[in-house]
Amino acid sequence: MVSDVALNAPGKRVLLLGNEAVARGALEAGVGFASGYPGTPASEVLDTLVEVAKEFPGLVSQYSVNEYVALETAIGASWSGVRAICAMKMVGMNVASDPLFTFCYCGVGPGGGLVIVNGGDPSCISSTNEQDNRYYGLHAHMPVVEPSNPQECKDFTVTSFDISEKFDVPVMLNLTARTSHSLGPVVLGELKAPKEEGYFVKNWGKYFSALVIAVANKQKLLRNMAKLAEDYAYKTPLNRVLEGSRKIGIVTSGVSYNYTLEALDILKLYDVPILKLGLVYPLSKKLVAEFAENLDMIVVMEELEGFIEDELKKIAYDEGLSVKIVGKEYFSPAGELSVDDALTAYSKIFGVESPINPQELALKTFSFSSLLIMRTPGFCPGCSHRATLYAIKKAIEGKNYDIVWGGDIGCYANASLPPFNMSDFMVCMSAGVSIASGISFKSKKQKVVAFIGDSTFFHTGMPAVLNAVWNNADILIVVMDNGWTAMTGHQPHPGTGISAAGKSKAVDIAEVCRALGVDYVRVVDPFNLKHAISVFDEAFKQKGVRVVVSRRECVLQTMRKMREIEAEKKRKGIEEFYEVAEHICIFCEECLKAFGCPAIVVGEFEGKKVSKIDLGRCVNCSVCKQLCKGCAITHTKVWKNASIVEEAKA
Ligand code: SF4
Ligand code: SF4
Repeated sequence: MVSDVALNAPGKRVLLLGNEAVARGALEAGVGFASGYPGTPASEVLDTLVEVAKEFPGLVSQYSVNEYVALETAIGASWSGVRAICAMKMVGMNVASDPLFTFCYCGVGPGGGLVIVNGGDPSCISSTNEQDNRYYGLHAHMPVVEPSNPQECKDFTVTSFDISEKFDVPVMLNLTARTSHSLGPVVLGELKAPKEEGYFVKNWGKYFSALVIAVANKQKLLRNMAKLAEDYAYKTPLNRVLEGSRKIGIVTSGVSYNYTLEALDILKLYDVPILKLGLVYPLSKKLVAEFAENLDMIVVMEELEGFIEDELKKIAYDEGLSVKIVGKEYFSPAGELSVDDALTAYSKIFGVESPINPQELALKTFSFSSLLIMRTPGFCPGCSHRATLYAIKKAIEGKNYDIVWGGDIGCYANASLPPFNMSDFMVCMSAGVSIASGISFKSKKQKVVAFIGDSTFFHTGMPAVLNAVWNNADILIVVMDNGWTAMTGHQPHPGTGISAAGKSKAVDIAEVCRALGVDYVRVVDPFNLKHAISVFDEAFKQKGVRVVVSRRECVLQTMRKMREIEAEKKRKGIEEFYEVAEHICIFCEECLKAFGCPAIVVGEFEGKKVSKIDLGRCVNCSVCKQLCKGCAITHTKVWKNASIVEEAKA
């Protein structure tokens, strides 16, 4: 729980999520600056630090507009001698990679260790790919630390700060969705007060990375990494050997270590030597050689690529080890691994029959999952994005336009699904605008539309819009502005008028677009359907870069804010609802199929099918009343206490 993260109770055992445990570890390390951009599965690291910052006056926690800005800001704090943490999901590392590589050359400030939290996502649970960011460690010469459970998330975070300062390099703390979101007991350590104030000590030879200095810095970095690999990686308790007498050993890390232990327990194999790596990169040659000494074979269990496997093979070649090393022959490089994968592989490798049939286990899980309500992805009832897409659909109806739809990252990625089918591609944050621009430069017969969310606009969308204006693209950019970074848990962005520290200046997207040189900028409320349709109709007929900001707050946030008001209404006996007058409904299915609000279901009236509103799901957004072809949907307000029933004017 977030409240336990700030507890000043060393030795106390509390239950924490992996991400919360990382935040606690940062507090125990005396972190003075935290930044990042929200992205599942890493979001709660910064969310937690933002929440607890109120209790730690020396800690500055802030959301950034994107990951490279987040990292660059954290570098500034580090170079001022303040410990800093920067959290992002794995695709964010691509955004941050520009400053990252040079930063590794320069190193951290004195007493300013810097930990980069990477939220990996095997199986693409909420991502567009499942890249393995341990390779950033290899490529940028950056140590990679990988915890297996919440206790290690906390402890390894503290150690990562120490490594960072000792070897003058940022450290990547590599998590996956299972580690980030697993709940487990954590024994708290001492909290360390953050440095209230930093000071940037000028050091041109360290921080000005160019020409001879850059080359010298790289050499210094390589020397530090070599020292880390030979001395530190050999002795560090981050790596652990579990003794065993068998001739086949296992090397593993992160969540795969837990799967290994569980599978070996099921198979009753208690004598298998295991090298559990916490420091995944760089590896100690001496440690590997000692582990391999009496072994005929090493099996590497790791998710995604054969990163550790390749490193082991390199060491085996260099050290002349005769041990056979296998891994990806048994474990897929795609998707998350599981206990079942470990069971299947180890029972084959060790020649032991499993008392559990993994396929049967999978079937059992499947039969349990059939008890759950199946939920297909889609917009929530009352979601403004559905209304925006519907307005666009109506604006182009009967026009015979040939349109390319550019999708982007956010809730509105659901635009690709029926009934809208309005996303022909989706790559990464703000790529919708740039790719759409590229299409418009070459495909003159098509109309090109790019969707972008408000947070994505501030993330990397502004340069994309500027580029479109500068090069005279012919695109309609629809900013799906629901007022929050909604998909990752409603974090604020520059348009919300709130920062992690509290109230701040609200930046208006429409004004920014005008300042970027867009001549055609309109703002619509998608819940005012008639107006939205007419604006989109006009926007489609224009040429050049056009921006329509479709603005209506995310319904989940509105409902949270409305909770108090609704409770008050209830106390007063006021009820408000939308319903279908069944005798009037012509069952044209506009509300059901063309609009697709999940609160509208099929009902029956006098033997004929009609639409029906599920009052348990309806959030009174009013849009279905506006679009109802048969004028069958009514809005009713009831004052029960006064026994008055009135048709509201709305
Ligand atoms: S008012 Fe209509 S469109 Fe809005 S949530 Fe209720 S049923 Fe859906
Ligand atoms: S749009 Fe109106 S008339 Fe058509 S099915 Fe829905 S409620 Fe009935």
